[in-house]
Amino acid sequence: MRKLDNKTLIVASHNAGKIREIRDLIGPLGFEAKSAADLNFIEPDETGTTFEENATIKALASAKASGLPALSDDSGLAIDALGGAPGVYTANWAEREDGSRDFAMAMEKVEKALQDKGATTPVERSARFVSVLCLAWPDGHVELFRGEVEGFVVWPPRGSQGFGYDPVFQPKGYDTTFGEMSADEKHGWKPGDAEALSHRARAFKIFAETCLGA
Ligand code: IMP
Repeated sequence: MRKLDNKTLIVASHNAGKIREIRDLIGPLGFEAKSAADLNFIEPDETGTTFEENATIKALASAKASGLPALSDDSGLAIDALGGAPGVYTANWAEREDGSRDFAMAMEKVEKALQDKGATTPVERSARFVSVLCLAWPDGHVELFRGEVEGFVVWPPRGSQGFGYDPVFQPKGYDTTFGEMSADEKHGWKPGDAEALSHRARAFKIFAETCLGA
């Protein structure tokens, strides 16, 4: 496992919600995080069929463009009753014809698909959020970290915090959705904390403990 000793890191993302969460996690560790969006890097096509492949494509593109180590996130919602969909295509389900993204529409699509399957009870609506973080160096070396959180898809959506599908995801053991949680409750983690809740914070914990010695 290669350690990260550079204190400037590129967050290889154009997704404001993800960038905010990764900044919240990495800031306290003393990193200056610049995002691919801030640097006007072009978004590479996500041509992979796994979270790992797409995370690697994004991190390598930013590392090579900047000459600095870059951290990407590829993530999505995998719903058991839908055979793991939308999965790596979670962002695509929100895409409108003009290329913009509409998550209210995406959540409705998910609900319609679950209703078509007759999935009404929490057990029938089980799902997990998955995040794969990839840390890439300009020389092409990569390290991958996966985090997952189990839960249920709820309807109607609840809460206006967070981003994306947060209002319809209720993690197991909680009675609030990610959309109803504070940033700290959803993805707060700092070195020494035994646990993190969100998929992204869980992947980040592994990254920090293995690559930063946190
Ligand atoms: P991608 O990783 O860019 O392919 O996009 C993943 C998509 O999954 C995002 O556009 C979000 O809609 C969704 N997603 C990933 N993580 C979260 C999360 O923490 N909350 C809500 N939605 C998420």
